[in-house]
Amino acid sequence: MSTYVIVGGVAGGATAAARLRRRDESAEIIIIERGPYVSFANCGLPYHIGEVIPERDALLVSTPEKLRGEFAIDVRTQQEVVHIDWQARKLSVRDLRSGETYRLGYDKLILSPGAKPSIPPIPGADLEGVHTLRSIPDMDAIKARVDSGEVQSAVVVGGGFIGLEMAENLVERGVSVAVVEMLPQVMAVLDFEMAAMLHRELRDAGVRLALGDGLKEIRRTEEGRLEVVLSSGRTAEADIVILAIGVRPESDLAKAADLALGPRGHIVVNETMQTSDPDIYAVGDAIQVMNPITGQPTAIPLAGPANRQARIAADHITGLANAYQGTIGTAIVKVFGLTAATTGLNSQALKGAGIAFATSITHSSDHVGYYPGATPQTIKLLYAPGDGRLLGAQVVGHNAVDRTIDALATALKAGMTVYDLEHLELAYAPPYGAAKDPVNIAGFVASNALRGDTRLAEWHEIRDLDPERQGLLDVRSDAEWMLGRIPEAIHIPNTELRERMSELSRDKEWIVYCAVGRRAYVMERMLRQKGYQVRNLSGGWTTYSVATEAQDNFERCACEPVKEPAATPVLVETGSGAIEKPIAAAADQTADLQLNACGLQCPGPIMAVHKKLQGMEQGQVLEVLASDPGFRRDVAAWCEGTGNTLLTLDQSNGAIRALVRKTATQPQIKLTDEGGPAKGKTIVVFSSDLDRALASFIIANGAAAMGQPVTMFFTFWGLNVLRRKDPARVDKSLVERMFGWMLPKGAEALKLSKLNMGGMGTWMMKRVIKSKRIDSLPTLIASARESGVRLVACQMTMDMMGIQVEELIDGVEVGGVATYISETDKGNASLFI
Ligand code: FAD
Repeated sequence: MSTYVIVGGVAGGATAAARLRRRDESAEIIIIERGPYVSFANCGLPYHIGEVIPERDALLVSTPEKLRGEFAIDVRTQQEVVHIDWQARKLSVRDLRSGETYRLGYDKLILSPGAKPSIPPIPGADLEGVHTLRSIPDMDAIKARVDSGEVQSAVVVGGGFIGLEMAENLVERGVSVAVVEMLPQVMAVLDFEMAAMLHRELRDAGVRLALGDGLKEIRRTEEGRLEVVLSSGRTAEADIVILAIGVRPESDLAKAADLALGPRGHIVVNETMQTSDPDIYAVGDAIQVMNPITGQPTAIPLAGPANRQARIAADHITGLANAYQGTIGTAIVKVFGLTAATTGLNSQALKGAGIAFATSITHSSDHVGYYPGATPQTIKLLYAPGDGRLLGAQVVGHNAVDRTIDALATALKAGMTVYDLEHLELAYAPPYGAAKDPVNIAGFVASNALRGDTRLAEWHEIRDLDPERQGLLDVRSDAEWMLGRIPEAIHIPNTELRERMSELSRDKEWIVYCAVGRRAYVMERMLRQKGYQVRNLSGGWTTYSVATEAQDNFERCACEPVKEPAATPVLVETGSGAIEKPIAAAADQTADLQLNACGLQCPGPIMAVHKKLQGMEQGQVLEVLASDPGFRRDVAAWCEGTGNTLLTLDQSNGAIRALVRKTATQPQIKLTDEGGPAKGKTIVVFSSDLDRALASFIIANGAAAMGQPVTMFFTFWGLNVLRRKDPARVDKSLVERMFGWMLPKGAEALKLSKLNMGGMGTWMMKRVIKSKRIDSLPTLIASARESGVRLVACQMTMDMMGIQVEELIDGVEVGGVATYISETDKGNASLFI
């Protein structure tokens, strides 16, 4: 009979023990566990603190009694292995309750001692109220503090998996949370722009983010609270501090037994999990493994690898050939409404390993948009530029992120290329996916890039564009442009670009973008075939905007507890960058009308709100329900831009609910029926000075050339601009005739407002205009008429001066103030010249 001893009885240890028993009924199997519990779900610890998992016992996957009863395993808790005598194959075990030490022999030993939380060497790290989270007792201590009601605010140090899970669960308990992270981003396994989506989610949930700032000191205030001091000098007071800056392998025992260790202290094992002593196996967080992508050793402390390694160790001990294939690092985390997941290597790791790679970013719906509840999902692929082999993938979204990352992890593990992703046959029905699954779409885009069908630009390249040689072209709709844009971009909606292509210089490279890259791709193809140099901004405005906004809100955050039982009020980060407190739910506020915009994707919900509000009375309130997560940001920006009032904004069960009061008497930014902002221009021409008339027609022609409707309203002296040089004779009174003699007759008779000098200045100006080949006023008037500019003569002025319609040039309409006012209603700018 063999004796198998296992050190550590949680993820790796308990799995190894159960597998050993299944393969060897006759063996003596002993688990030595230092703590009071075995086989508990340490992954669930943060969620019990947050009371998302209300039952503490649910975390105890198994107990010593169950392991004894079901598997005949001798489980010894609160006993610690303190020494390995590998030559004699004996252990020294200390009973932590009695303090006695005894010797225990083994035939095979499995080490699964896990890892311990890193404690930074800073003053105050050992103060009462500063916690780490690894075990059930750690969890109990934190939860007891929160349950006591003493904890109003917390500082979580470290923005990795455990730090973010703790931040979310503390917010769930009504605690105001600040997250401090030394790197410029949370979740170092993600690329920056993917992590930036999490930053936005954290800020929107009211979490205070200090990024790129280390922990310098923790001290006690006079009031007895904790004060966290950061390297930058910024401080935050808190009632509790959670240190979650990473873990170190529990390898002291292995080190003392002279087992081979890696550069960071991890136990070195082979593919059957044997250490440098073939009778001693090691698994889990304490070991280093091979990364199949780099072929280099790595340490990835996750539960899945620990369990698989334990199975392989048990198999090998009991004579079954099975080899560990390495860890690619597939992981997932929930951060409030978002989920982030990764597999393989990120950009930094690939650079560090000296592996050439290309990337693509796609945004797709997790399922078809016409089935309720569709939400966006962002996929970043990292792949070999030569054969397209998948090297890494990251996914951030609201739903079905697990499904997507698992498909990608499987593809990566199988050595597939981005071309293979195009051909994956994935399950589809409207509630679940799309005929073109997000994974297929990611494959299409990356393959297009490798084949040269598309050339991608990355968001961080934009800041280094050379305006002499490169331009930015925004091809989104007017409504999307209105909600935000890259400052240097020019805007030509994709529906107009075929007609307006000539506005683009052929000497420049154009970086074209839309919301996510799909429309921009169509325009990229069209422009390239017309001879333009063009690239498509990978991930479009959606990625660019989230990656370039202010990420750290430490100073700006109102930092109020944001949890409410029924719905979570949403923080509003306005265009000006200020973060306002959550908009308080106005309990007594009732809506006059409802709008269900669930299922619509951006800018659909905003367009629907705009249309609905048009038909409502001033002061009435519209209740909007939307499922597009971008709506909570868009509706705030839209109300700010149009002068309407956002009364409440909250979110529950994935639905965003906004109450909007119609307060804009005349929207500051008006939308046409197609959803774009009204672009009409009205120009009141009051003057008959040559220079002023020239200016007004230059503006009118320019606006008309940009496809904008223009109405020019000629009143008082401005009416002279429209007079004929030699009109037909009409009946007039003496006074009317005198007006006619004194006032200039038409465009050619106008004089400069300044430097006229008895006609000399005017003559010189006309010569300059001619020599510089600038259009004369009569030519500009003719162009304006050809471009459809409306020329309206003021009825009242004509009556007053006795000017009759026959005396005016062709194509002039006669209208009153109402004509002018109704035209200004349709426009967004009115000039008085
Ligand atoms: P552990 O499960 O930590 O077990 C090691 C045990 O060995 C400990 O109980 C320790 O007391 C005992 N021990 C150590 N030395 C001795 C000794 N000398 N004598 C006796 N006993 C000893 N992973 C994921 O994949 N997904 C997640 O969502 C996730 N969430 C997590 C959340 C939290 C809060 C934590 C702490 C971890 C999380 N992990 C997650 C990581 C995952 O739990 C670990 O990767 C996994 O538990 C590692 O298994 P292990 O057997 O190596 O170590």
